[in-house]
Amino acid sequence: MCGIIGYLGERQATPILMESLKRLEYRGYDSAGVAVIETGDGTRHTSVTKSEAKVDLLIAKLKENMPTGTVGIGHTRWATHGKPTIINAHPHADCHGRISVVHNGIIENFAEIKAELESLGHEFTSETDTEVVPHLIEQYYKGDFLLAVRKALQRIKGAYALAMFSLDDPELLVGARLNAPLVVGIGEGEYFIASDITAIIPYTKKVLILGEGEMAAVTPLGPEGSTLDGQPVDAKIVHVDWDVAQAQKGGFPHFMLKEIHETPEAAANAFRGRMTDDGLVNFIEFAISDDHLRRYHDVRLLGMGTSLHAAMLGEYVIEDWAGIRARAEDASEFRYRRPTITDETLTVVITQSGETADTLVGLHQARERGSLTLAITNVVASSAARDSDGAIYLHSGPEIGVASTKTLVAHLVTQYLLALRLATAHGRVSLERREELARGLRELPDKIRRVLDNSTDIARLAHKYSRFRNFMFVGRGINHAVALEGALKLKEISYLHAEGSSGGELKHGPIALLDPDFPVVAVCTESSTREKMASTVHEIVARDAPVLALVSEGDGSLDDIVTDQIVIPAADEATSAVLSTVALQLFAYHVANELGRDVDQPRNLAKSVTVE
Ligand code: GLU
Repeated sequence: MCGIIGYLGERQATPILMESLKRLEYRGYDSAGVAVIETGDGTRHTSVTKSEAKVDLLIAKLKENMPTGTVGIGHTRWATHGKPTIINAHPHADCHGRISVVHNGIIENFAEIKAELESLGHEFTSETDTEVVPHLIEQYYKGDFLLAVRKALQRIKGAYALAMFSLDDPELLVGARLNAPLVVGIGEGEYFIASDITAIIPYTKKVLILGEGEMAAVTPLGPEGSTLDGQPVDAKIVHVDWDVAQAQKGGFPHFMLKEIHETPEAAANAFRGRMTDDGLVNFIEFAISDDHLRRYHDVRLLGMGTSLHAAMLGEYVIEDWAGIRARAEDASEFRYRRPTITDETLTVVITQSGETADTLVGLHQARERGSLTLAITNVVASSAARDSDGAIYLHSGPEIGVASTKTLVAHLVTQYLLALRLATAHGRVSLERREELARGLRELPDKIRRVLDNSTDIARLAHKYSRFRNFMFVGRGINHAVALEGALKLKEISYLHAEGSSGGELKHGPIALLDPDFPVVAVCTESSTREKMASTVHEIVARDAPVLALVSEGDGSLDDIVTDQIVIPAADEATSAVLSTVALQLFAYHVANELGRDVDQPRNLAKSVTVE
């Protein structure tokens, strides 16, 4: 969940660690720290600097007292064991401060290892699970740091990405991973270990991807990959095409707003090169024949958070267009059930980072049960992509804002393509309908731009509605998931109470909440249940709750009924669902901004949830 970075090269490590930690801050930011090997007068020591708050505080401390040295590691923490305090902040060390470790993940058997090490005389200072790692390495150390790391890691259960060094071997930086992401960047005479590519793109685009249970020993000669038991591995080197500007704010006050403005591009990138004018879809990364695809009569879509809502929209379009059974599932629940999956099931995992722990477990279970698995993700060579039979990439560029925006849109477009692909293979769609759906997708980027042009109006409404403390979001049919996502986005970044309900469900309970201080955001845009939604709106208005309705351009039927309206361009229901989603992202953004919230790094959240 957190961000880790390591540097070994010819330059000063501290400025590079500082800059990389800033880039990694979106992954976790409750505390931070760095350790740098300082050498002078024939002695060597580790300089450790920590902050109990955000990376900026750490940077201020470092600027005051800048450690010098060309090898170092850094960490932004998202606490799992122990409060965000200086003591619990990483890096953690052994009893003698010779071994330094930063860790992302959870060491599940730490209590047992800690008790054992304490009985051997090791003294622990923090409440973290992580601290067992340097002590365990110290316990095994007999003059060969790498060997000691290997032995220690063979004892550890759980999830980790680690970067570590020892004062006894100052030209060796070690990285290791299990169930958490880690990459090694290869520059000119310098090397990086990082949780993700974003941290190191200003320095290098050449990246070595470590597999599960693999480690890298990085020296001035370069990285060497191996398994935990020391077998050499031929690690995969990829060249990334993201540029530095893509990972910066580009003049917008927040990454989130910048990324919402990148949704037209994200939508276009998701279908670019994958769809002919008459709606024939071909995924190069997931080339599968119609015959093969026809074997699958059941589609499971696994996701969490925003990705679960994306999956719900996927469920709707796959059933509607392809006429086959589709189910969106909360991956964290799926993993603890006995899912009825067969070799006729296609399991699709929806994850921006490709590292969402719950989703990955669901993916592994589906695979074990013989399902064909497919990952839709933004991160090339991420765990989800590597562990699936096929991977479709979003090509959205890095998403830094914690609340997903452009990648949700890209996920929706990609699932629409998948639905079209399935509909064609199963012979459930006429040429005419296919052309119509393809046209809808092609027009999407321009129509999203028109929603964005309306940003000032949405900001004005956000200003008006930001005085309320409770919100209900309501939609039906395809727009049920749009409403749930609208509510999630608002609560994530504004900390206001927001619930989502289907129009039908509303009167079975949630309607009791409504009064003049409890507004309803009603998604009334084009859909097969549009008329039903209008009735729901009448029921709400009768309870005196203010109604902010999303309506399609040209539909004046709610003009005299609702309190306010956001008008989106006229489009078919699948396209309208995307447009409403973007409008609600803008609404949430402006409400949160009105309230002065930390929009890009909302409290208690992290971008890539790599723990269960
Ligand atoms: N489990 C470790 C801790 O609580 C690491 C958490 C993280 O990934 O930031 O310190």
